[in-house]
Amino acid sequence: MHDKTAKIERIDMLICPFHWLTGLDCPFCGAQRMFLALLHGNFVEAFWLNPGLAIGAPLVGLWWLWKHEISPRAALVMVIIAFAWGIVRNIVPLG
Ligand SMILES: [Zn+2]
Repeated sequence: MHDKTAKIERIDMLICPFHWLTGLDCPFCGAQRMFLALLHGNFVEAFWLNPGLAIGAPLVGLWWLWKHEISPRAALVMVIIAFAWGIVRNIVPLG
C-alpha cells in the first residue's frame, strides 16, 4: 500500500526559526506539512499536525466572511489565543 505520509516527509520544508532556536513548537509549526497533507486529501493527518491551526484558521475565515474586517480588538484576541495554543501544544501531547 502506498504511504502518503512518507512521501510528504521527504519534501524539504522551511525550518521554523522558533523551533530551530528553542526545540519547541510555535503556534504555526506543522502548517507546511498540514497544507501538503490537505493537498493529498489526508484530512485527519492534516488536523493532527496542528489542531489549533486546523480549528482556528477556518474560524478566522468565517469571522472575515461575517464581519468583512478584523478589528484591532479581534486581532488582539486572535494573537492571545495563538500564543496560548503555542504554550498548550508544548505541554499537552497532541497528535
Ligand atoms: Zn514553528
